[in-house]
Amino acid sequence: MERDGYDVVIAGGGIVGAALACALGDSSLRVALLEGTPLERIQPGTEIDLRVSAISRASQRIFAAVGAWDGMTAWRVGPFREMDVWDAGGSGHIHFDSAAIGEPLLGWIIENRIIQTALLERARQFPNVELYCPATLGLASVRETEVHMQLGDGRELCAHLLVGADGSNSRVRHWAGVDTGGWGYDQKAVVTTVGTEKPHEETAWQRFLPTGPLAFLPLHDGHCSIVWSTTPAQADHLLAIEGDAFALELAEAFEWRLGRITEVGARGAFPLRLQHAHAYVKPRIALVGDAAHVVHPLAGQGVNLGLLDAAALAEVLQGAIAARQDIGAFKVLRRYERWRKGDNLLMLGIFDGFKRLFGSPLPPVRLLRNLGLNLTDATEPVKNLLARRAMGLAGGDLPRLAR
Ligand SMILES: Cc1cc2nc3c(=O)[nH]c(=O)nc-3n(C[C@H](O)[C@H](O)[C@H](O)COP(=O)(O)OP(=O)(O)OC[C@H]3O[C@@H](n4cnc5c(N)ncnc54)[C@H](O)[C@@H]3O)c2cc1C
Repeated sequence: MERDGYDVVIAGGGIVGAALACALGDSSLRVALLEGTPLERIQPGTEIDLRVSAISRASQRIFAAVGAWDGMTAWRVGPFREMDVWDAGGSGHIHFDSAAIGEPLLGWIIENRIIQTALLERARQFPNVELYCPATLGLASVRETEVHMQLGDGRELCAHLLVGADGSNSRVRHWAGVDTGGWGYDQKAVVTTVGTEKPHEETAWQRFLPTGPLAFLPLHDGHCSIVWSTTPAQADHLLAIEGDAFALELAEAFEWRLGRITEVGARGAFPLRLQHAHAYVKPRIALVGDAAHVVHPLAGQGVNLGLLDAAALAEVLQGAIAARQDIGAFKVLRRYERWRKGDNLLMLGIFDGFKRLFGSPLPPVRLLRNLGLNLTDATEPVKNLLARRAMGLAGGDLPRLAR
């Protein structure tokens, strides 16, 4: 059987893989993007996706630079201008306001389905990118000068580079023989969409409970998307109870900040873990996004880190083409690994530290974290730096597409 030949095959057309394909659009590389799940059609009345992401300013710049942002705004995106975080175990509180740092907003809350579809539709417009969807990568073997691949339906492909953008259970990572480190948090995140009695005021709210953080994320149409991280037993209970009982428990857990919960949508839950690949690259293989690292959703940064991976890898590959180098060569791919691994590890450590700090019932820890929150809240320069870092406007070596 004849093999279709590409320079780059990207396994996984989730947000990160699709963004990478767009970032390589209009380059001299022939790119194939494989996505296993068929695309849904989004229409004006389509129900709000259970999965939403807090998108940083840096990520929004990437979407705009690759020409996918207009596709998202044409459907629906919601800005958030303020963030309010407080500790259930004391008086600790911190408030971020975009106006205080001279910015129009802190970021956007966007449904994952909308981000992914806009990126895939944009990818399809590039003459050098071919979208295979639905198509599952079933097998890959690395040879000296190329990777041979077989799709689930028997079609065969080959490429100089295979990128694993296939999520936390990455098969590409497995085929490359890359191990991961990490641990389960013994928590699940319950997600749903709710209506609230009071307006959300374009504010992202998060209350740290002893069992895990509870976030209310403001949506474009006045609803809130909920991410309630808690023990597996409580998560199972929250999924099993009737909507009215859920509304009451949610309002109570949130201290009635937005009044009564007036509507509850479908509910789902995701187990939470921290995971980090020991290597991001092997000869002819690179890993991006959740295939390389999985973080706790408390800081809303998982996909933002993945988008920086995609932008950095695209920049490294474009540099290699300009220098007439082999894009699958280990020494080329190592540039990407050196660029992103340290930064990702630092962020993983910080988010894990937050998770542990706020999960601790020990009185001295509770006292310290409350003092820390209030002190940071009162120290404008530190607070502003934190906000700018979370927005992707400070810290780290940003890829060109994110600047
Ligand atoms: C509850 C929750 C809330 C979160 N909130 C935020 C947030 O607010 N902000 C944020 O930045 N991050 C957030 N995250 C993290 C974020 O969702 C992930 O980091 C992000 O989805 C990872 O994207 P990805 O494209 O790397 O992987 P995935 O989203 O897992 O996509 C992988 C894709 O690959 C496809 N695939 C897999 N195997 C194959 C194969 N063999 N062949 C072809 N295709 C394949 C899959 O169908 C899928 O589409 C949250 C996570 C959770 C659990």
